[in-house]
Amino acid sequence: MFFWYIFHGGKLFVTSAQDGSRTVPYAKTCPFPDVAAVLDFYCGEDETYKAVMLSCRHGGEEDWLPLRSCYDRLPYKHYANATKALEVLDWNSQTLYCGHCGTRQELRTPISKFCPKCGVETWAKLSPAVIAVISRGDEILLVKSKTVKRDYHVLISGFVELGENFEDCLRREVYEETGLKIKNIRYYGSQAWPFPRNVMVGFFAEYAGGELRFQKEEIDSGAWFRYDALPQIPGKMSISRRLIDAWVKSRSKNK
Ligand SMILES: [Zn+2]
Repeated sequence: MFFWYIFHGGKLFVTSAQDGSRTVPYAKTCPFPDVAAVLDFYCGEDETYKAVMLSCRHGGEEDWLPLRSCYDRLPYKHYANATKALEVLDWNSQTLYCGHCGTRQELRTPISKFCPKCGVETWAKLSPAVIAVISRGDEILLVKSKTVKRDYHVLISGFVELGENFEDCLRREVYEETGLKIKNIRYYGSQAWPFPRNVMVGFFAEYAGGELRFQKEEIDSGAWFRYDALPQIPGKMSISRRLIDAWVKSRSKNK
């Protein structure tokens, strides 16, 4: 028997238990025909799970959930497995052919492929990004992004570039986007962020100097906000929110 993480159009197929809670199918075989891809994957346990991409949708609209809303609607284990399932399906569809010779690649493990002609082996890749609470006494810096429209404020974040470590990346991103220098960079924690295939690495840092000057292409607006007068901030599923909550708690404790 397997748990089946079945996707179509970025949405996950879910079933309803008698008590109204949602889960994923548990069966020997895939409950649907029209399978475009099926991959085995693991999530830190011995159990094998199945990731499926369908070529056409079955069931009603209420049977399909966008991945982000699975965080609130499914047990955490199924949310986490579903994120990995979609990541391996996405990786699989983007690496069908060898980048060196164009031959169709074969799976070697659930997260690696090899080219039968030139023997090149490739692994599923993650893109790391850093995100940070930048504080100045009782205030933190929060911004509204120009590229991703949201009705709440967010922390400064950005993708790690070639040749950078996380701290270099954070200093560069903060300076590029805000004109500020930072100091006392401290690691907080990290979070898989499968939208798609990213890992977010969280830090605390302190203001060291400079005047706010937002990068026009990236930031719509932003300001320093006191810990007890924050605007609307991201929801609980993100490391962004955990970072802000941890910082607010540390400020409140100091009073
Ligand atoms: Zn090749």
